[in-house]
Amino acid sequence: MSTKTPITVAYGDGIGPEIMQATLNIMDAAGANIETETIEIGEKVYLRGVETGMEPGAWDSLRRTRVFLKAPITTPQGGGYKSLNVTIRKALGLYANVRPCVAYHPYVFTKHPGMDVVIIRENEEDLYAGIEHRQTDQVYQCLKLITRPGSEKVIRYAFEYARAHNRKKVTCFVKDNIMKLTDGLFHKVFEEVAAEYPDIEHETWIVDIGAAKLADTPEQFDVIVMPNLYGDVLSDVAAQIAGSVGLAGSANIGSQAAMFEAIHGSAPRRAGQNLANPSGLLLAAVMMLVHIGQPDVATRVHNAWLKTIEDGIHTYDIYKEGVSQRQVGTREFAEAVIERLGQVPAVLKPVSYQATQVIRAEAKTPQRKAEKRLVGVDVFLDWDRGSANDLGALLSQVKEGPLALRVITNRGVKVWPDGLPETFCTDHWRCRFMANEGEAVAPADVVQLIGRVVAAGFEPIKSENLYLFDGVPGFSAVHG
Ligand code: NAD
Repeated sequence: MSTKTPITVAYGDGIGPEIMQATLNIMDAAGANIETETIEIGEKVYLRGVETGMEPGAWDSLRRTRVFLKAPITTPQGGGYKSLNVTIRKALGLYANVRPCVAYHPYVFTKHPGMDVVIIRENEEDLYAGIEHRQTDQVYQCLKLITRPGSEKVIRYAFEYARAHNRKKVTCFVKDNIMKLTDGLFHKVFEEVAAEYPDIEHETWIVDIGAAKLADTPEQFDVIVMPNLYGDVLSDVAAQIAGSVGLAGSANIGSQAAMFEAIHGSAPRRAGQNLANPSGLLLAAVMMLVHIGQPDVATRVHNAWLKTIEDGIHTYDIYKEGVSQRQVGTREFAEAVIERLGQVPAVLKPVSYQATQVIRAEAKTPQRKAEKRLVGVDVFLDWDRGSANDLGALLSQVKEGPLALRVITNRGVKVWPDGLPETFCTDHWRCRFMANEGEAVAPADVVQLIGRVVAAGFEPIKSENLYLFDGVPGFSAVHG
């Protein structure tokens, strides 16, 4: 027998230990060739004062095995506790969150019997970079960062996933009618990568109407890839409308490591009562088995699980009079799956995983560095001593080299010159200084301009340089 694949396991909190034991028992009975290393994470660790929820030593195991099967944890209320998931994702570079959302009609109630959607969410960037600032009395800011390599990796992963799993279409959700630069980049990279996969259909939806369509007719979608925040929200919606969040597993994939977990939490009120449904974690473990190159075991486990659901052996959360045959606890459910190893479902679609479904995706499109030219600066001020016209009049006096005041906005709305008196203004002003077309601006001009703004009695809270990249503005235009 070949050497066992080491994996790191955490039993977590609440119902975690019960569903993890059930999952490991099923994998063991199915002949999974794995060796587990256990680490402690979660509530007890947080309450010992470790604000990440994981002891430093646990990282050694994760770095060694690079495969993590994780039960849910309880995040203590209040305090400065950090999200363990966000920490692990960022530390291990887990760039793609993969969440299959499948209906098991007629055995689990759903309004969408034909639903079979895989949501692939970018997992490291967007508003989750965690860069937030309070800038004035009234205004707070969170930075949305979208990168070309980050977008390319997850989009390429989505197309590779579609190809490996015989899926026909990849859909992209963005809001690039509003966020033309950030979501615009995600959309652009999507089109570039899609061109390399002519065998797979592709389409893009604006996220609002796309989300409405997903909730209404999920059968129209196959694989959907999206930036972090939209994916966070919509993957829960998709799992719920498929039948139950309790049945969905998820994979967090990186180039060097991967983490597998149920999407639900630790359900503390159900803990220790042999009640919880282990299906979410088990289906995550199935994805793990495919990832570590044991597709045969993954197939056996998944088909036995489908047969158990089809036979009406259900935990309390999906039990329904007239549909279910027997209500069981966590342990009995696991035993029922074990009894059915080797069987395939008769009505639900059986699965068959392949060795070729271990997916690797890298950002590989070579990028020529664009020619970058400084043309101006947006200086943001904390100011509450008058109207937009007062500010415009004062700042028009402030000039440095080629830089002169062109426009002022408040919350993105133009308020000077020719603003409307009706526009509501806060204490946060963006003042755009630019050179005339063709005039060169040096970085030193920007620094000196900010010095002059301070000398004129203002408080700049930040500045953003305005560049042309190969002649194309790398900043949004001011409308109004
Ligand atoms: P939850 O998912 O734990 O529970 C929501 C509801 O679903 C509850 O009614 C619960 O009884 C039920 N439920 C959840 N999983 C079930 C299962 N496997 N079988 C049967 N019923 C199940 O969400 P919550 O109550 O908001 O959060 C509880 C704790 O879990 C919190 O501390 C939260 O921070 C944490 N949490 C952890 C993770 C994670 O570790 N990945 C994810 C989400 C929430």
